[in-house]
Amino acid sequence: MRNPFTMKKKNHRPADEIQDLQFFGEYGGVNPSISDSATYTFLRAQTMLETFEGKTDACYLYSRHSSPSTHYLSTAIARMENTESALATASGMGAITSVIMHLAKAGDHIVTARTIYGGTYAFLKNFLPKFGVDVSFVDITKPEKVAEAIRPNTKMIYTEVLSNPLLEVADIPALSKIAKKHNIPLVVDNTFTPLIFTPARLGADIVIHSLTKFINGMNDMVGGVVCGTEEFIEDLRNVNDGAAMLLGPVMDSLRAAEVLKNLHTLPVRMVKHSQNAMFLAENLEKEGLKIKYPGLASHPQHETFKKMMNPEFGFGGMLTIDLETSERANRFMERLQQKNVGYLAVSLGFYKTLFNAPGKGTSSEIPEEEQKEMGLSEGMVRMSVGLDFDIRRTLAKIKEILSEMQPEKSL
Ligand code: PLP
Repeated sequence: MRNPFTMKKKNHRPADEIQDLQFFGEYGGVNPSISDSATYTFLRAQTMLETFEGKTDACYLYSRHSSPSTHYLSTAIARMENTESALATASGMGAITSVIMHLAKAGDHIVTARTIYGGTYAFLKNFLPKFGVDVSFVDITKPEKVAEAIRPNTKMIYTEVLSNPLLEVADIPALSKIAKKHNIPLVVDNTFTPLIFTPARLGADIVIHSLTKFINGMNDMVGGVVCGTEEFIEDLRNVNDGAAMLLGPVMDSLRAAEVLKNLHTLPVRMVKHSQNAMFLAENLEKEGLKIKYPGLASHPQHETFKKMMNPEFGFGGMLTIDLETSERANRFMERLQQKNVGYLAVSLGFYKTLFNAPGKGTSSEIPEEEQKEMGLSEGMVRMSVGLDFDIRRTLAKIKEILSEMQPEKSL
């Protein structure tokens, strides 16, 4: 039997896939036309029936199922991620919850990382038990812990490649080996590292993104995507039992068209995000600050990251600075905003730098006790470094703020 999670191209280069996209609109438009319809008409009643049964390729039925605009976007992202197919959703959480609800049923078990995005954590910890699904949270940087946690009823391994907010790196080939041994899918959230990692090539079976972040990059919408085999994506939107079709997290056509345009600049943006973050990380570490950035040799999984990365895109735009207390972290962030280094805001992947203190913010769903255990300090500031043209000027501003704060406690 064909493995429902097998992947496609061998010599795949993600930026080339984006560069080579060619979708035309009516009248020769250089961007595809936007499909401004919820439903679609058929010339023959029989074709409509066949479309319901998933037997026709080129027909659209109803926009919760699929539309030309979401199809263009999904195709583009599937090419970038080297998967056979993809499905755009209304949010990253829409993608995550659909995949999990589709693959797990009452009595099943999931193994996941103990540091993941707070919303995903809350879903797994607080919401899934209502449906009788049990979840084990383990240290994902230790594959042996993952292997130990697998039970006969385990239905998937779920992880972020670079975790939110601790920037821990999951060893995807090692996790894939475990998943394959137990014949279960490895589901991976690649939101922090589009293009930098191609998880499907590393052995992941299903790849998810919040499009809200780097991929769209403009902070003007919320969206998500699930990438996988043709078979899995068709299952996910099956009119009778597909979680995405029945739960209904559908992306609007207008939004899909906008994300697709922004995707074309993603390779250049990722390179710049990475260059800027590397520059700040190196220089702030030299100042004696506690910096976590996967591009630094001091990052515990620096070598794992290097082994898996597409090197032309660098180490990404995310870094953390541990200022130890929430008072210092708050003061630092307020001053950063006053000096227009960026904005005190949740989310990431924007052209301006964004920062927040996730212990009390996006990871607040994680109990304080657990936060401590996993090394999530209340003074930790997470920065999504922007596309600043002159990053030296930004560094100078940050240094000024740090020297203002010096008398409080030596840094
Ligand atoms: N995955 C990660 C790693 C995230 O950081 C987020 C949001 O911050 C999500 C998923 C959820 O995405 P969305 O806000 O688009 O639903």
